[in-house]
Amino acid sequence: MRDAVVPLGGRDWNIRFVRRKDLPSARYMGLCNRESLELLIYKRLPEFDLLDTLIHECRHAQNRVLFEAEEFIDETSTELARAILKTRVLQDG
Ligand SMILES: [Zn+2]
Repeated sequence: MRDAVVPLGGRDWNIRFVRRKDLPSARYMGLCNRESLELLIYKRLPEFDLLDTLIHECRHAQNRVLFEAEEFIDETSTELARAILKTRVLQDG
């Protein structure tokens, strides 16, 4: 994994993989900050949770509506992470 700047929803976002203490509390695995345009992802997560969290926070960044739809984002991002890992497209790519 590496930090990166990526366009999401028409703006450039800074994705940063961070330590636990860089997040607001121990229950956060990631954070989408719409003011600083930063996505913080806890870097010590297991592979599945890392992908799930990255997808989750990227989708919040894509659209303000998705920022308000926590339950929907949570469930559907986990589904996407499962599909990506199960099909092994990244390893085969
Ligand atoms: Zn969320």
